[in-house]
Amino acid sequence: MTAIQDIERKTDEIQRSLYSLVRGEVPSLFDTGTWKGKVMEWAMRDESVKIPLFRFIDALPSVTHDSGVVRLLNEYFENVQDSPLVIKRGLRSLAGTGILPSVAGRIIRSRVASFGRQFIAGRDAEDAENALRSLRDEGLAFTIDLLGEEALSGPEIVAYQRRYLHLIDSLARKTALWPQQDLLDNDHVGPIPRVDVSVKVSSFFCHLDPVHWEESVSRAKEGLSPVIEKAEETGASVTLDMEHYYLKDLTIDIFKSLLEDHPALHFGGIALQAYLKEAEQDVVGLVRWARSAKRRISVRLVKGAYWDYETVVNRQRGWPIPVYLQKSATDRSFEDLTRILLENVDAVRPAIATHNLRSISHAIAVADSLGLPRNALEFQVIYGMAEPIRSALKKFGFRVRVYTPVGELIPGMAYLIRRLLENTSNESFLRQTFFEQAAASQESAPPDSSPQEIDLDRGFRNEPLLDFSRADNRRRMNEALESVRRRFGSSFPLIVGANEISTGQPIVSRNPADQSQIVGTVSSATAEHAEAAVRAARSAWISWRRTPPEERAAYLRRTAASMRSHRFELAALEVFEVGKPWKEADADVTEAIDFLEYYAAESIRLGTPRRLGAYPGEKNLYVYEPRGVGVAISPWNFPLAIPTGLVSAGVGAGNCVIFKPSGLSSVLGWHIVNLFREAGLPPGVLQFLPGPGGEVGEYLVSHPDVDFIAFTGSKEVGLKIVELAAKAREGQRSIKRVIAELGGKNAIIVDETADLDEAIKGVVESALGYQGQKCSACSRVIVVGDSFEEFCSRLAAAVDSVPIGRPEDPSSLMGPLVSEEAVRKVQSYIALGKRDGKLLYERDPGLGGLYVGPAMFTGLPLDSPLLHEEIFGPVIALVRAGDLDEAIDISNSTSQALTGGIYSRSPASIEKAQAQLRVGNLYINRKITGALVARQPFGGMAMSGVGTKTGGPDYLQQFMNVKSISENTLRRGFAAE
Ligand code: NAD
Repeated sequence: MTAIQDIERKTDEIQRSLYSLVRGEVPSLFDTGTWKGKVMEWAMRDESVKIPLFRFIDALPSVTHDSGVVRLLNEYFENVQDSPLVIKRGLRSLAGTGILPSVAGRIIRSRVASFGRQFIAGRDAEDAENALRSLRDEGLAFTIDLLGEEALSGPEIVAYQRRYLHLIDSLARKTALWPQQDLLDNDHVGPIPRVDVSVKVSSFFCHLDPVHWEESVSRAKEGLSPVIEKAEETGASVTLDMEHYYLKDLTIDIFKSLLEDHPALHFGGIALQAYLKEAEQDVVGLVRWARSAKRRISVRLVKGAYWDYETVVNRQRGWPIPVYLQKSATDRSFEDLTRILLENVDAVRPAIATHNLRSISHAIAVADSLGLPRNALEFQVIYGMAEPIRSALKKFGFRVRVYTPVGELIPGMAYLIRRLLENTSNESFLRQTFFEQAAASQESAPPDSSPQEIDLDRGFRNEPLLDFSRADNRRRMNEALESVRRRFGSSFPLIVGANEISTGQPIVSRNPADQSQIVGTVSSATAEHAEAAVRAARSAWISWRRTPPEERAAYLRRTAASMRSHRFELAALEVFEVGKPWKEADADVTEAIDFLEYYAAESIRLGTPRRLGAYPGEKNLYVYEPRGVGVAISPWNFPLAIPTGLVSAGVGAGNCVIFKPSGLSSVLGWHIVNLFREAGLPPGVLQFLPGPGGEVGEYLVSHPDVDFIAFTGSKEVGLKIVELAAKAREGQRSIKRVIAELGGKNAIIVDETADLDEAIKGVVESALGYQGQKCSACSRVIVVGDSFEEFCSRLAAAVDSVPIGRPEDPSSLMGPLVSEEAVRKVQSYIALGKRDGKLLYERDPGLGGLYVGPAMFTGLPLDSPLLHEEIFGPVIALVRAGDLDEAIDISNSTSQALTGGIYSRSPASIEKAQAQLRVGNLYINRKITGALVARQPFGGMAMSGVGTKTGGPDYLQQFMNVKSISENTLRRGFAAE
């Protein structure tokens, strides 16, 4: 018998005996004799009720009035048949036939709280003491997890630290008095701490992000240090929990660095997730590191709790999926990792954290085969789950540690929902074993080792953003910044027809972070150049209009390819030319690539004539043709994406385009045109004509030989262009088409059922991303009901923690404004806010130059300019609304209607917002910026634009005329077909 067969045989044997110990036992959660068991049974029987049930439970703590609970319950369950009694009662009381809604609400609330208590040992150390003591009396060890997800601000971190310090102190004192239990207090090497706490690194630094690696490591360590020092002092151990994959390498780095700085820490541990494809290399790396650092570490091996998140979010980002897609592959990996850990118990103290009898039995079989004593191996289970398994393991003589959450119900909800989903999923071992009573033998087969990857995406794919958790990408970005810096001060000519023209009239482009630095100079065009450009465009159009759509698309695709290969340099140039932080700059480059690819596909789709009608004897065609010569005029704030979108739509549709960039981003503008040139685009099809908007811009707009204007910019300039274009001039041959995307005054509504953590994060990102200089930025927040004060103070604290600094430093989330004019404008609105309303928050970044810190106001009159005019800076006006209707009215009260959003967990409120909010792009429970090509086609209505959505299926049509052709195919009585 081979060693593998031997392990298999032993695993099987152990599993049978463990199974015989758990058979007939029911974990309290699945006991259908209790109402909790009934609800779980109901959720597991029918997937269509599980989601509303868990979503309802998730939203519940945010509802402050008991009667609101019943309303919410009704919203979630109105269409669900066969609800359990407790829910029926709630619904009936709403109809006025049963108990009062407020009473029903209270009952429901207390039942959910009792559900929470199933998984949560207590509110704090004192409250959890009895639970911990009974675990110990049962012969079980514990690790405590203080509930709370991410920290959003400095004060929230401090509060979290305090809770941990108190917890460790109080438990250290109490557990010192407990009688010794050899199995729990020692392993085969020596003593192990009685107090073990588990911490999430993201709770100790609110901007934890690998993009600024060193800053994240040092700030997270700074946040964690008091906790580690307390553990050192009291002899406790600390385990770092593992969160999302994006933070994995960073977490491992922080772990190692913490241990290096704290040699006296009795035990440091880290959790590793077997569902990650990289888990093996991480385990091996940690073992090697522990050995070289000459210290033992503990490793908690888990399967991984964020599988849905990892598959959904990484697919959304277009990044490789880091987790195994098949459960069996994770199980296989778990077994491989178990073996590695057990083979290295001199360097690691392994904790096998699973409820799966097969995985447990395999670990025991491997440990036995290695001749390890029982106390060398620890199992971990989750509080409130798998009681039969933990007692069976105890009977086998193993140390079992219970992962025990402690905390309040609201921050505990995310945790509770994770546990409920885990227990009710079809693949849950507990469900299969104790709910469906699947035979033990079904599980004993070794996990399949050849998983198949499933590809769910079809069609257009967005260009993936750079993953800055990769050291290589950070290195390349730093190199690109260096190389762009070396080329500061270069000059760029006009491109008219096939000629490059240097005019001697420079447009100087300066680095907003340091205005003494000249990023580059671009020649400024005059009316004569504009005239020459129109003539060149007209003559180039003669052949360009006849170029087949496939060929036109190929130019766009080649330009996309070269943009892709220069993406780091282009992003670095954005950092310097317009002051975009790294991630924002990268996102702009990817969007530009998306526009090229998407419009290439669209030009082929629309360029292919469509046959209409199915009648014999006639052939009807619907044919899109280019309009002619167009002008593209763009703003500076998305200096690559917007102009690339405007010109590629025009050129892809078969037009010749004269491009006038913003004076603040003309170096990037030149690069766009140059990339098209390098892709081989014939001269005259796309020309580069920077110059003063009021001169060159207006000259082009008014020119009789220009057929359309594609403009993105402010309302003022947009309206002027509409007016100029409306006037027909002598010799003009077509009515000009104006495609204009203008500014916004965008609001986010936060209703009573909103997840405040998510809403605060969303508002911060939407309002302060790129210093608020986005047309889609949030500048009004309308909070419904009683949480206004809490929301305002938490938002102010979160805003206060946002780091401001030079955009080339990746730890800066905010940089300078783009120009002196922008600074003056923003400051004038801040002064107005101080006069008319109440200043909630203001910060002077103290950096001089063009830096303006965020400012927030409440108590503004509803007609205040701060609630109606686009400010284009980091200024937020907060308004309180009595109810959702009022919030919607306030949101709709501006003349502009670009983006808007709502944070809500009430299905009825979300439905109402969808129907009544007057905006071009509505976002629900997410930030209101960052629209993606083909996924959230972008553009406003009312005074925010005349045009269809960029990156959407109607966009290219605006650059074309439609011809309808009908041919009679019947000649002398014979049809051609
Ligand atoms: P802006 O209107 O000042 O300038 C836009 C462009 O128009 C520049 O190239 C400018 O030189 C040119 N221009 C100025 N006067 C002109 C004239 N009389 N005739 C012809 N062209 C003229 O805007 P900006 O400051 O560059 O950009 C910020 C504005 O753009 C904000 O209002 C923002 O909301 C808006 N914007 C809208 C969208 C959208 O998709 N809706 C996207 C980005 C920016």
